[in-house]
Amino acid sequence: METKKNIKDYNLDELKEELKQIGEKPFRAEQIFKWLYSEKVKSFDDMTNLSLDLREKLKNEYTMCNYKIIKKQESSDGTKKYLFDVLDGNAIETVLMQYHHGKTICVSSQIGCKMGCKFCASTGIRFIRNLSPGEIVEQVLAVEQDINDKISNIVFMGIGEPFDNYENVIKSIKIVNNPKGLNIGARHISVSTSGLVPRIYDLANENIQCTLSISLHATNNKKRSEMMPINNRYNIEELMKACKEYIKITNKRISFEYALAKDNNDNLEDAKELVNLLKGMLCHVNLIPINKIENGKFTKSSNENIIKFRDYLNEHGIVATIRRELGSDIDAACGQLRRSNISHGRK
Ligand code: SAH
Repeated sequence: METKKNIKDYNLDELKEELKQIGEKPFRAEQIFKWLYSEKVKSFDDMTNLSLDLREKLKNEYTMCNYKIIKKQESSDGTKKYLFDVLDGNAIETVLMQYHHGKTICVSSQIGCKMGCKFCASTGIRFIRNLSPGEIVEQVLAVEQDINDKISNIVFMGIGEPFDNYENVIKSIKIVNNPKGLNIGARHISVSTSGLVPRIYDLANENIQCTLSISLHATNNKKRSEMMPINNRYNIEELMKACKEYIKITNKRISFEYALAKDNNDNLEDAKELVNLLKGMLCHVNLIPINKIENGKFTKSSNENIIKFRDYLNEHGIVATIRRELGSDIDAACGQLRRSNISHGRK
């Protein structure tokens, strides 16, 4: 087991502090940051403008956390699913999606998830631990290296609940967002939450321009609690209050995710309730045709119902779009990242 510190866990200011501790000037941190995120080197030996002595010091203190690909699958639509070795015997999944407007990476924030949403394949996965900031950032670097191209967008919609690992997620955003680093604009980063209400207030006050997505999926507490146990902790009223406050503070649009399950939350009554809930809010609704998971009770709505649902929302003043399903043939679509892969490891 690696005991060295991960050099990618630090944002630029923290790296300056780290270097100060070992008697180095802050500009060295900028040089290292550039090597890591602009030049994307894989070893301290490649940081050729640092003295040999400093390179040795760095090697003794830090690891670079370079992921190895355990498995890679490619869908007919170009979506790629990676299983990475995170170097402690565990593995994580990351998905790359290709859109006209660029390449989007769906990153995991935890190994496993505690939320227990009934329709999500992560639910059967035992929660093991949070990913560190560097372990989140490394997913971007490793995919960029594999495709030899730049990632333009990041969504925190892989395995895990980003707000259950809030500090590390925020730090990872600051690292990828830094113009001296990967320089991925915060507007190109989305964080999705099942609804950990206190963290919505926290994010509102972070002054980070990323997009907030809320996994809503139902419009009343009975239905939402059946789908998402987190609703028993923070109900819809508390969630909507936090969302309204978030919009007030940030003046930013919220994206509400709504996975349509047949005969559960997909009829026009539900659409009507959704309109009432979101009326007047600065928001957008992302309709996801639900992906049935093994032994799951929720099945996909018919295309006809999905379109009717979308049209109802649009006709009643709520902007709604249907999310394209990418990567379903390799189990890389929403909620399909699976236990069999995640527990892959040497432990
Ligand atoms: N924990 C976070 C992020 C991970 S899931 C969250 O809950 O938001 C990313 C999105 O995929 C969420 O909106 C989630 O509700 C949705 N999702 C999970 N399983 C799904 C499934 N089987 N079909 C469709 N969407 C699903």
